[in-house]
Order: sequence, then structure tokens, then C-alpha cells
Amino acid sequence: MTNRRKFVKSSLVAGLSATLLPAVSEAENNFSKKQKGWKHWVWTNPDLKDTDAQLAERYRKYYEAGIRGIFFENDSEKHFRVAKAHKIEAHRWIWTMNRGEKSLLESHPEWYAWNRKGESCATHPPYVNYYRWLCPSREEVKDYLARDYETALKKDYVDGIHLDYVRFCDVILPVNLWKNYNIVQTSELPEYDYCYCPVCKAAYKKETGEDIDLVQYPEASPSWRLFRYQRVNQVVERLTKVADSYKKSITAAVFPTPDIAHRNVKQDWANWNISGVCPMIYHGFYKENVSWIGSAVNEGVTALHGKFPLYAGLYMPDFKNDTEVEQGVVNALSNGAAGVSLFGNVTDGHLEALKTASAKIPFQKA
Ligand SMILES: [Zn+2]
Repeated sequence: MTNRRKFVKSSLVAGLSATLLPAVSEAENNFSKKQKGWKHWVWTNPDLKDTDAQLAERYRKYYEAGIRGIFFENDSEKHFRVAKAHKIEAHRWIWTMNRGEKSLLESHPEWYAWNRKGESCATHPPYVNYYRWLCPSREEVKDYLARDYETALKKDYVDGIHLDYVRFCDVILPVNLWKNYNIVQTSELPEYDYCYCPVCKAAYKKETGEDIDLVQYPEASPSWRLFRYQRVNQVVERLTKVADSYKKSITAAVFPTPDIAHRNVKQDWANWNISGVCPMIYHGFYKENVSWIGSAVNEGVTALHGKFPLYAGLYMPDFKNDTEVEQGVVNALSNGAAGVSLFGNVTDGHLEALKTASAKIPFQKA
């Protein structure tokens, strides 16, 4: 708490003495304008049964703990407005490439991604029934997504959009999940490797002159891999333009490090130009401990070169106790994260840990 209190106190003094002292230099002025402190987030699905009073109490506590933004997985004007009334930004979290809406499955099964065996996600969802991945190469898919995000951006109470599942299907799952599906993924299996639809194959051939069907080990082809990174990058570019046209922010939940993102889900987030990124540094999924949170943040921040802020996504059920939460937050902030984003039930203990950790590490701009 000490640093935060000191910061609040000194800014109060500066405010009070403003009329008595000469104006501060422009540099100092700019610094105080930009200095905002750590920015923490929460991912949540709004419960429509929450009352205004309950929300006011919850968001007051959030703000006090340093939470400055919430990603809402559903639209609820009430939740958005109460959050904003408590100086917390309200962003709309919408899944991007994984889209199983019945209307779309029925009207456009041809828009879905195909695996290396030639099976479509429309009829053969991998791992789980809700894994219905769209093909990123189709213009119709990009148009559909642009319209969908635009619907959210048009609303005056929405501060920004938050992308999730903005990637291919996991060709490799996090190691701790292998046992759940009774599979060993030490190599890229054809049933989980996407997208081998006619549109992707034709576009690849046009770009490189290569017919991917004639390549003996397509999973080992660097240009085919790069081609697929770029296909999702182009979807992100399109959605970034849509968010920019509304002068609103665009952030994304992504895989924990650029390396894991490339290897497991063909996601190339360090090459995006969005407002901020929340890598899901869920240590338990990878059988890692909390010290890994710091190394993962460091890897991401190094790849970004200060292009946009990185907020470390933390999975609350993976922490054994509040002391571990505090350590996880310290590890993230001391390695260059601009804040953290919490997933799971957020308890008073977590909030206290967040506050304590944030006060321990002096705020530094990226
Ligand atoms: Zn495709």
C-alpha cells in the first residue's frame, strides 16, 4: 500500500499547490498526464440477476484494488454502465474464429475450417462439440465478423472490443489437458491441424506456387505455417480497422508466449497492432509454477518492443492461496506487464493480494 498511498498523497499536494506555485514544466506535465499506474482487468460473464447495489459494491472494491477494466463475455447494459460509473472501462468480449452459432452452422457450413484429413469443423468438431472454427481465408468470414464486432462498437456504453479464440484450433493442447482427451500430442496430428479447405489451398498456391497436397510433410513446411499465421493476422487487421473507425480500443486474449502461440495454435500476436494483449499465462495448464508467469511476461514484452501493453492473464483456480496470487502478480509486474487480467471467481483475498502486489512494485511505463 505504501507506494500507492504516497502517490495519491503527492498528487493531492501538487493539485492543492497549483495556484500558489509556478506552472510545472511541459515534460513534468506530460508525465503526470500519462502516469496512470498499473491497469488491471477482470474477465467475466455478467450474471443478469446481479442488482445495481451488488454491482456497485463489487466494482467499488475492484476499483480500490486497481482494476480499471472489465471484459464482459455478454452484453448487459446495466453491468457496463455501473462499471463505468465506478471509473472502470467496460469492454465487450466476443469469440472470434470459434463460432458455433446455430444460424451460421446451418446457413454457411462451407465457411468452416477443414483439417488435414479433409474433415470440416461444421460436421466434425475436434476435441469438444463447441469447437467450430471458421476459415480465416474467406472474405465472407471477415465481413461477418466485422459486422458482428461493429454491432458492439456502436453502443455508447461499450469502451472497446476484446477478441478471444483469435487463432486456429489447437494442433497441440496444453500438456496438462492431454489426459482429459486421452491423447499424446508430441507431434502435429492431422485431425487437429487446420485449415486445409479449398480456399486456403488455392490462396497458398497463388502466393507461393506450391500445391500443399503435394508436400510430403505439410506440418513441417515453414511457408505453409507462415501463410496460416498471416491469415489470422489479416482477420485481426480488419477488426482493428473497425475498432479504429469508432475510436475504440481492441484487445485480445492470446496464448501465453509468442512461442507457445505459434506452436500450439498458429497465432502470431506479437505482429498485431492492437491496443493491448492479455496472454493467458495459466501456469497450471502447462504444469508450471508461479515463477513461470514472470518468464512468460518477459518473453512477450521483449517480442512487443513496447508496441502495445501486455496484461498478464492469470487463472485464479491454479493458485494454491492468496500469497501465491500476490507472488504471481509481483512476477508479472516486475517483468514488464502493464497489469494483470484475472479469470475465475475473484475473491476479496485475491483483490487484497492484487493491491499489495501492485504497491510493492513501483509503476513503470513500458
Ligand atoms: Zn480455409
